[in-house]
Amino acid sequence: MDRAELIQHLRREGVTDERVLSTMQKVRRELFVPSQSEHLAYADRPLPIGEGQTISQPFIVALMTQALRLTPEMKVLEIGTGSGYQTAILAHLSAYVVSLDRRKLLADRARLRLSALSYVNVEVHHADGALGWPPEAPYDAIIVTAGSPRVPEKLVEQMANHGRLVIPVGSLRFQSLRLVEKQNGQVQISDLGACRFVPLVGEGAWQEDIDDTEYWGV
Ligand code: SAH
Repeated sequence: MDRAELIQHLRREGVTDERVLSTMQKVRRELFVPSQSEHLAYADRPLPIGEGQTISQPFIVALMTQALRLTPEMKVLEIGTGSGYQTAILAHLSAYVVSLDRRKLLADRARLRLSALSYVNVEVHHADGALGWPPEAPYDAIIVTAGSPRVPEKLVEQMANHGRLVIPVGSLRFQSLRLVEKQNGQVQISDLGACRFVPLVGEGAWQEDIDDTEYWGV
Protein backbone atom coordinates (compact mmCIF):
# COMPACT_ATOMS: atom_id res chain seq x y z
CA MET A 1 0.00 0.00 0.00
CA ASP A 2 1.10 3.58 -0.56
CA ARG A 3 -0.09 6.64 1.36
CA ALA A 4 -3.15 7.31 -0.85
CA GLU A 5 -4.20 3.65 -0.63
CA LEU A 6 -3.87 3.73 3.14
CA ILE A 7 -6.21 6.73 3.28
CA GLN A 8 -8.77 4.88 1.12
CA HIS A 9 -8.44 1.90 3.44
CA LEU A 10 -9.03 4.12 6.51
CA ARG A 11 -12.19 5.51 4.87
CA ARG A 12 -13.47 1.99 4.21
CA GLU A 13 -12.74 1.13 7.86
CA GLY A 14 -15.06 3.96 8.90
CA VAL A 15 -12.77 6.94 9.56
CA THR A 16 -14.88 9.95 8.60
CA ASP A 17 -13.07 13.07 9.89
CA GLU A 18 -11.72 14.78 6.74
CA ARG A 19 -9.21 16.88 8.66
CA VAL A 20 -7.70 13.74 10.18
CA LEU A 21 -7.64 11.96 6.81
CA SER A 22 -6.02 14.87 4.99
CA THR A 23 -3.40 15.22 7.75
CA MET A 24 -2.56 11.53 7.51
CA GLN A 25 -2.31 12.00 3.75
CA LYS A 26 0.33 14.71 4.40
CA VAL A 27 2.52 13.15 7.09
CA ARG A 28 5.08 10.67 5.76
CA ARG A 29 4.95 7.68 8.09
CA GLU A 30 8.07 6.21 6.49
CA LEU A 31 10.10 8.98 8.19
CA PHE A 32 9.03 7.65 11.60
CA VAL A 33 9.85 3.94 11.21
CA PRO A 34 13.27 2.23 11.22
CA SER A 35 14.79 2.05 7.73
CA GLN A 36 14.39 -1.73 7.54
CA SER A 37 10.59 -1.30 7.90
CA GLU A 38 10.18 1.57 5.43
CA HIS A 39 8.55 -0.71 2.85
CA LEU A 40 5.82 -1.49 5.43
CA ALA A 41 5.19 2.14 6.41
CA TYR A 42 1.73 2.25 4.76
CA ALA A 43 0.54 -1.17 5.84
CA ASP A 44 -2.20 -0.76 8.44
CA ARG A 45 -0.22 -2.33 11.25
CA PRO A 46 1.99 -1.39 14.17
CA LEU A 47 5.74 -1.75 13.61
CA PRO A 48 8.66 -2.11 16.04
CA ILE A 49 10.59 1.10 16.76
CA GLY A 50 13.22 -0.34 19.15
CA GLU A 51 13.26 -0.75 22.94
CA GLY A 52 10.38 -3.25 22.60
CA GLN A 53 7.99 -0.40 21.65
CA THR A 54 5.86 0.16 18.55
CA ILE A 55 4.58 2.87 16.26
CA SER A 56 0.80 2.50 16.47
CA GLN A 57 -1.39 1.08 13.70
CA PRO A 58 -2.60 3.90 11.39
CA PHE A 59 -6.27 2.97 11.92
CA ILE A 60 -5.86 3.39 15.69
CA VAL A 61 -4.03 6.70 15.19
CA ALA A 62 -6.95 7.90 13.05
CA LEU A 63 -9.60 6.63 15.46
CA MET A 64 -7.99 8.21 18.54
CA THR A 65 -7.28 11.52 16.80
CA GLN A 66 -10.83 11.67 15.45
CA ALA A 67 -12.21 11.05 18.95
CA LEU A 68 -10.35 14.12 20.28
CA ARG A 69 -12.22 16.49 17.89
CA LEU A 70 -9.22 18.82 17.74
CA THR A 71 -9.49 22.43 16.63
CA PRO A 72 -6.58 24.76 15.75
CA GLU A 73 -6.55 26.66 19.05
CA MET A 74 -6.32 23.60 21.33
CA LYS A 75 -3.49 22.55 23.63
CA VAL A 76 -2.83 18.80 23.61
CA LEU A 77 -0.98 16.45 25.98
CA GLU A 78 0.30 13.19 24.50
CA ILE A 79 1.61 10.35 26.65
CA GLY A 80 3.84 7.85 24.82
CA THR A 81 5.76 9.86 22.19
CA GLY A 82 7.42 6.73 20.77
CA SER A 83 8.30 7.44 17.13
CA GLY A 84 6.69 10.90 17.17
CA TYR A 85 4.30 10.00 14.31
CA GLN A 86 1.12 10.56 16.33
CA THR A 87 2.75 13.71 17.74
CA ALA A 88 3.18 15.08 14.21
CA ILE A 89 -0.47 14.40 13.37
CA LEU A 90 -1.56 16.21 16.55
CA ALA A 91 0.76 19.14 15.77
CA HIS A 92 -0.99 19.71 12.42
CA LEU A 93 -4.45 19.75 14.01
CA SER A 94 -3.89 21.81 17.17
CA ALA A 95 -2.05 24.87 18.48
CA TYR A 96 0.45 23.15 20.73
CA VAL A 97 1.46 19.63 21.74
CA VAL A 98 3.26 18.56 24.92
CA SER A 99 4.46 14.98 24.46
CA LEU A 100 6.00 12.71 27.11
CA ASP A 101 7.91 9.43 26.96
CA ARG A 102 9.48 7.54 29.85
CA ARG A 103 12.18 6.12 27.56
CA LYS A 104 14.89 8.72 27.15
CA LEU A 105 16.22 7.28 23.90
CA LEU A 106 12.80 7.42 22.23
CA ALA A 107 12.03 10.91 23.58
CA ASP A 108 15.41 12.22 22.37
CA ARG A 109 15.05 10.63 18.92
CA ALA A 110 11.50 11.87 18.43
CA ARG A 111 12.44 15.41 19.55
CA LEU A 112 15.26 15.52 16.98
CA ARG A 113 13.10 14.05 14.24
CA LEU A 114 10.23 16.47 14.83
CA SER A 115 12.54 19.47 14.91
CA ALA A 116 14.29 18.31 11.72
CA LEU A 117 10.83 18.19 10.13
CA SER A 118 10.20 21.80 11.33
CA TYR A 119 7.47 21.09 13.86
CA VAL A 120 7.75 24.18 16.06
CA ASN A 121 4.57 23.73 18.09
CA VAL A 122 5.73 20.56 19.87
CA GLU A 123 7.72 19.95 23.03
CA VAL A 124 8.93 16.46 23.97
CA HIS A 125 9.90 15.62 27.54
CA HIS A 126 11.47 12.53 29.07
CA ALA A 127 8.97 11.96 31.90
CA ASP A 128 6.43 9.60 33.45
CA GLY A 129 3.26 10.54 31.63
CA ALA A 130 0.96 8.75 34.05
CA LEU A 131 1.50 11.85 36.19
CA GLY A 132 0.64 14.16 33.30
CA TRP A 133 2.53 17.44 32.91
CA PRO A 134 1.18 19.90 35.49
CA PRO A 135 3.17 22.99 34.40
CA GLU A 136 1.04 23.42 31.26
CA ALA A 137 -2.29 22.01 32.47
CA PRO A 138 -5.19 22.16 31.81
CA TYR A 139 -5.29 20.49 28.38
CA ASP A 140 -8.14 20.57 25.88
CA ALA A 141 -7.23 17.08 24.76
CA ILE A 142 -5.14 14.25 26.22
CA ILE A 143 -4.11 11.13 24.30
CA VAL A 144 -2.41 8.11 25.87
CA THR A 145 -0.80 5.69 23.43
CA ALA A 146 0.12 2.94 25.90
CA GLY A 147 -2.26 0.57 27.69
CA SER A 148 -3.21 1.31 31.30
CA PRO A 149 -4.96 -0.76 33.98
CA ARG A 150 -7.09 2.29 34.78
CA VAL A 151 -7.64 5.93 33.84
CA PRO A 152 -4.86 7.74 35.79
CA GLU A 153 -6.44 10.27 38.15
CA LYS A 154 -3.76 12.89 37.51
CA LEU A 155 -4.75 12.97 33.84
CA VAL A 156 -8.42 13.57 34.61
CA GLU A 157 -7.36 16.39 36.95
CA GLN A 158 -5.37 18.00 34.12
CA MET A 159 -8.28 17.99 31.63
CA ALA A 160 -9.83 21.34 30.82
CA ASN A 161 -13.56 21.80 31.23
CA HIS A 162 -15.05 20.37 27.99
CA GLY A 163 -11.78 18.46 27.57
CA ARG A 164 -11.49 15.01 26.00
CA LEU A 165 -9.13 12.17 26.91
CA VAL A 166 -8.58 8.92 24.95
CA ILE A 167 -6.80 6.03 26.59
CA PRO A 168 -6.57 2.25 26.15
CA VAL A 169 -7.69 0.61 29.42
CA GLY A 170 -7.55 -3.10 30.28
CA SER A 171 -5.08 -5.93 30.87
CA LEU A 172 -1.43 -6.07 29.79
CA ARG A 173 -2.35 -7.69 26.45
CA PHE A 174 -5.87 -6.50 25.65
CA GLN A 175 -7.54 -3.17 26.18
CA SER A 176 -10.53 -1.20 25.09
CA LEU A 177 -10.24 2.37 23.99
CA ARG A 178 -11.99 4.71 26.43
CA LEU A 179 -13.11 8.24 25.72
CA VAL A 180 -13.33 10.39 28.86
CA GLU A 181 -15.26 13.66 28.54
CA LYS A 182 -15.35 16.40 31.17
CA GLN A 183 -18.35 18.72 31.31
CA ASN A 184 -18.77 21.18 34.18
CA GLY A 185 -16.68 19.03 36.51
CA GLN A 186 -18.58 15.83 35.64
CA VAL A 187 -16.79 12.98 33.89
CA GLN A 188 -18.38 10.65 31.35
CA ILE A 189 -16.68 7.56 29.94
CA SER A 190 -17.55 5.73 26.72
CA ASP A 191 -16.04 2.76 24.92
CA LEU A 192 -14.62 3.02 21.38
CA GLY A 193 -13.71 -0.64 20.85
CA ALA A 194 -10.92 -3.17 21.32
CA CYS A 195 -7.22 -2.42 20.88
CA ARG A 196 -3.75 -3.64 21.88
CA PHE A 197 -1.01 -1.37 23.09
CA VAL A 198 2.32 -1.83 24.86
CA PRO A 199 1.95 -1.10 28.60
CA LEU A 200 1.85 2.31 30.25
CA VAL A 201 4.44 1.93 32.99
CA GLY A 202 4.55 4.36 35.88
CA GLU A 203 2.87 5.70 38.95
CA GLY A 204 -0.88 5.13 38.69
CA ALA A 205 -0.44 2.61 35.83
CA TRP A 206 1.55 -0.69 35.49
CA GLN A 207 4.36 -1.21 38.01
CA GLU A 208 7.95 -0.45 37.04
CA ASP A 209 8.99 -4.10 37.56
CA ILE A 210 7.01 -5.53 34.62
CA ASP A 211 8.99 -6.16 31.43
CA ASP A 212 7.28 -3.79 29.01
CA THR A 213 9.37 -5.01 26.07
CA GLU A 214 7.57 -8.34 25.68
CA TYR A 215 4.20 -7.07 24.47
CA TRP A 216 4.64 -5.83 20.93
CA GLY A 217 3.65 -8.23 18.20
CA VAL A 218 1.65 -10.54 20.47
N1 SAH B 1 2.36 7.00 19.72
C1 SAH B 1 3.56 6.20 19.63
C2 SAH B 1 3.36 4.91 20.40
C3 SAH B 1 4.61 4.44 21.01
S1 SAH B 1 4.46 2.94 21.95
C4 SAH B 1 3.87 5.92 18.17
O1 SAH B 1 2.92 5.72 17.40
O2 SAH B 1 5.04 5.87 17.81
C5 SAH B 1 4.14 3.54 23.56
C6 SAH B 1 5.15 4.48 24.16
O3 SAH B 1 4.70 4.80 25.47
C7 SAH B 1 6.55 3.91 24.31
O4 SAH B 1 7.45 4.76 23.66
C8 SAH B 1 6.79 3.89 25.83
O5 SAH B 1 8.12 4.18 26.20
C9 SAH B 1 5.82 4.98 26.28
N2 SAH B 1 5.40 4.90 27.68
C10 SAH B 1 5.04 3.83 28.42
N3 SAH B 1 4.70 4.20 29.66
C11 SAH B 1 4.86 5.55 29.73
C12 SAH B 1 4.67 6.54 30.74
N4 SAH B 1 4.25 6.23 31.97
N5 SAH B 1 4.93 7.83 30.43
C13 SAH B 1 5.36 8.19 29.19
N6 SAH B 1 5.55 7.31 28.21
C14 SAH B 1 5.31 6.01 28.46
